[in-house]
Amino acid sequence: SERNATAAAPSIAAQRDAAPVLLRGARIAKRYQMGPSSLRVLEQCDLDVREGEFVAIMGKSGSGKSTLLHLLGALDVPDEGEVLFGGESVSQPISASAGWAARIDGFIRRGKLASTLMHTGLLAAVAGLCGGLGTLLFSLFGGPATARVLMLIGSLCAGVAAMALLRPTLHQQLERTRVAYRRRRFGFVFQFYHLLPELSVLENVMLPRQVACGFFGWSRERVAAETDARRVLERVGLAERLNHKPAELSGGERQRVAIARALVHHPRVLLADEPTGNLDAEAGANIMRILCGLRGEGQTIVMVTHDPTIAANADRVLVLERGRLRPT
Ligand code: ADP
Ligand code: MG
Repeated sequence: SERNATAAAPSIAAQRDAAPVLLRGARIAKRYQMGPSSLRVLEQCDLDVREGEFVAIMGKSGSGKSTLLHLLGALDVPDEGEVLFGGESVSQPISASAGWAARIDGFIRRGKLASTLMHTGLLAAVAGLCGGLGTLLFSLFGGPATARVLMLIGSLCAGVAAMALLRPTLHQQLERTRVAYRRRRFGFVFQFYHLLPELSVLENVMLPRQVACGFFGWSRERVAAETDARRVLERVGLAERLNHKPAELSGGERQRVAIARALVHHPRVLLADEPTGNLDAEAGANIMRILCGLRGEGQTIVMVTHDPTIAANADRVLVLERGRLRPT
């Protein structure tokens, strides 16, 4: 059986190598405009993360690790290149499932000029349609010329008003689509936990679910959300801390709450930015045990760290240097 065990290890690794690419960064560029000069943080940066893989990204402070993680998790959009999730663009989701809002957004985002033209064009089209309809009605039913002109002006105004009403709805719809996308795909863990101090541990973990379903859906969703929250908190060893406030917990425990919160949506990818950066060695090792346990259950993980011991837990370690990733 010992021989079987040693034979099984490479086959698991081989399985992972054969898994499909889940998250891809293709020729990503990101620059920050600092007054007249522009800071090139990422330049032609490529990355493939396979389903079920645990990838660690290392690099000096300021090398762009957090920037890259934000782009991968659709918290930000690259200046050039693309982030693809399951072959589909994350930065510009123009898929059938994203619906009409994302399609229109794809055009609008090509630039300010394009956006202005698009809005003006849409306005003109709707106003024109209303005007056309008004003229048609009057040519069918007759009436004096001044009435026709008034009707035409009225229809134009109605068209403009309709567009003005439509625009915020469009943008709201877009934002909702993006947030929903992000939620189903990514769970985030940050160095400084970002828990809400006035909420209990359980409430902190339930919060993303509450936000997702809105005021009216919450009454239906509450029980299921609480069951799930209790389950993930048990998973990270905090079953006895449900009613504590974050201030009453150690750093390691707070980070475990943050991991539970990231997991409560069953994200396809867990993105962790220096999750042990603020912890002592023992608490850090504890967090790594949890992450490795999750990876054992098939969770895809991308973790940023500057600690080589922590990075050694990953299947693959990449180094971010001069805007690009290279293997170690
Ligand atoms: P890391 O996480 O590797 O320490 P970051 O991705 O946070 O690096 O930042 C990379 C570089 O980009 C740094 O030099 C940082 O100062 C700069 N930077 C990050 N965010 C911004 C921003 N919003 N505006 C301007 N510069 C930024
Ligand atoms: Mg950082």
